[in-house]
Amino acid sequence: MSSYKIFLKKGSCSHCNNIIVIQRRYSGESLCPECFKKNIEKNIYRTISKYKMLKPKNKVIVGLSGGKDSITLLYNLNIIQTRTYHSEPIIALTIDEGIKDYRESSIDKAIEFCKKYNIEHKIISFKEKVGVTLDEIIIIKEKSSDYKYACNYCATIRRRLLNDTAKELGGDILAMGHNLTDLAETYLMNILYKRHNLIANQYFYKQENTETSKYYLRKIMPLLRIPEEEIFLYSNIMDFDYYPSHCPYREKDPIIRKRVLEFIQECKNYSPEIEFNLLNGFLELSQILYNHKQEISYNYCESCGYPCGKGKICTYCTYLKDFSN
Ligand code: SF4
Ligand SMILES: [Zn+2]
Ligand SMILES: [Zn+2]
Repeated sequence: MSSYKIFLKKGSCSHCNNIIVIQRRYSGESLCPECFKKNIEKNIYRTISKYKMLKPKNKVIVGLSGGKDSITLLYNLNIIQTRTYHSEPIIALTIDEGIKDYRESSIDKAIEFCKKYNIEHKIISFKEKVGVTLDEIIIIKEKSSDYKYACNYCATIRRRLLNDTAKELGGDILAMGHNLTDLAETYLMNILYKRHNLIANQYFYKQENTETSKYYLRKIMPLLRIPEEEIFLYSNIMDFDYYPSHCPYREKDPIIRKRVLEFIQECKNYSPEIEFNLLNGFLELSQILYNHKQEISYNYCESCGYPCGKGKICTYCTYLKDFSN
């Protein structure tokens, strides 16, 4: 059960006159708990149809960490897939990076949630797949001159393991619980570091029969039009039993990502629609960069065979080589 209390505010709902739980500065709407809940569920459904994220009969694999975002996504997708698309049952997929005092507890929440809703659940770990936990990687690399911060190793390895395991499970689609705030933050980070390749890779409407689609499953993010604080509120109204803490590496490493998030939050005070502007910017730029990228040739990794841009070895294999030394 969620331990957060829901606070009602002064004012009446824009739809039914009940007491409100949220006032949205970006839209001017005020919503009571019931209308807010329905609005979030409709938002997820409409995002899926607006961006043509699913087709009937798609086999969907959902990345599940046990936090509020992935639990909100799994709960809604499970209903949508059964009622609307009549597709094969969803499978939840959890990656255990091996982060002490953090991941074990969130995995427990993921297991309980899947049991409660009778959803098939697969858990795989860095240890079993690449031979080391994230904590061990950091111990090996922390003192070296080319140390890249925990999130770089973690995200690169997790992305590959999620993709490959989802393919092994027979998935057509990999659904991730990234919300609007995550997307705005990642987009701004990619701009700051001129990671045009990553922005192009995240384009939604990639052609399905290209060379790279043989390697990577199509990824969807149905929560992309919902700000983080609204997922938090929704999860608590729904009384979801999720793991509330943040990863310790996010606090420990002096990562710029955290500062970028603080910057976006501050901008929201003056310009409440800023995250939506960043989303729209991402949608336009990712299309331009994706189309441009189609005209450029790329190499295949000499070690794993996956497409890898200009280099000979992909980042995933470069990291793995480091740990086996
Ligand atoms: S915050 Fe960084 S290290 Fe922690 S789980 Fe996320 S990507 Fe991994
Ligand atoms: Zn209402
Ligand atoms: Zn490789």
